[in-house]
Amino acid sequence: MKAGYSNKFTIVMTLGMAWSAYWIAQDPPSVAGVLMVVVFCYFLTDVVSGLLHIILDNPRSLELNAIESLADGFQKHHADPRGITELPLYEHLYVMHLPLTLLFLAVLPFHTSLVYVVFLSMVLWLHVMQMSHRWAHARKNQLPPIAALLQRANLLIDFPAHAKHHREPYSKDFCIMNGLFNRPLNSVVRRVGNTSHAWIGIFFAVCLTPLAFAYGIARRVLNTRQR
Ligand SMILES: [Zn+2]
Ligand SMILES: [Zn+2]
Repeated sequence: MKAGYSNKFTIVMTLGMAWSAYWIAQDPPSVAGVLMVVVFCYFLTDVVSGLLHIILDNPRSLELNAIESLADGFQKHHADPRGITELPLYEHLYVMHLPLTLLFLAVLPFHTSLVYVVFLSMVLWLHVMQMSHRWAHARKNQLPPIAALLQRANLLIDFPAHAKHHREPYSKDFCIMNGLFNRPLNSVVRRVGNTSHAWIGIFFAVCLTPLAFAYGIARRVLNTRQR
């Protein structure tokens, strides 16, 4: 495990998963609500991946203590793109456990089962997103059949699409889930630039949207039941 990062975030995230599963079991949400949230979170993950990637590729992020080691890992990836396919799997995935710990802290005050579904969905999709990036750099013989199938279906990003990011100055095509949002995000990056810390605020604001979405659905269902 790299210095500057510890498995405490993995522990909090795992406790958060158990907590969420317990409260979902106590007050199960509707299947339709769960499906809407899971699908919303899948698409949102592509946007989140792009925003997180912009923040961590920013050389100015190397001056921010809390994310310095994550930013260092992302920026070294440009010099050795295939290196991520050789990293131990846990080391590759735990990068997401800090943002997921923060998400769990944001979910707690809602204390609503559908909002806990958001947390579990984002645990799933952010891990899939990390795997999607790893598979985009994998050789054909390293690629599991399911990953090849999902790439062909454009549900995960493939190497030709992701390779557009791996050209100096590494300032476009940041999304690494399925790349659907690369075009709109590129046009915002062209206007705002990619070295502004404003992206950190944008990232946190976007991460709150699925919580508002799920809470809105849960309130609607409650109001309908009470009528
Ligand atoms: Zn990059
Ligand atoms: Zn890459």
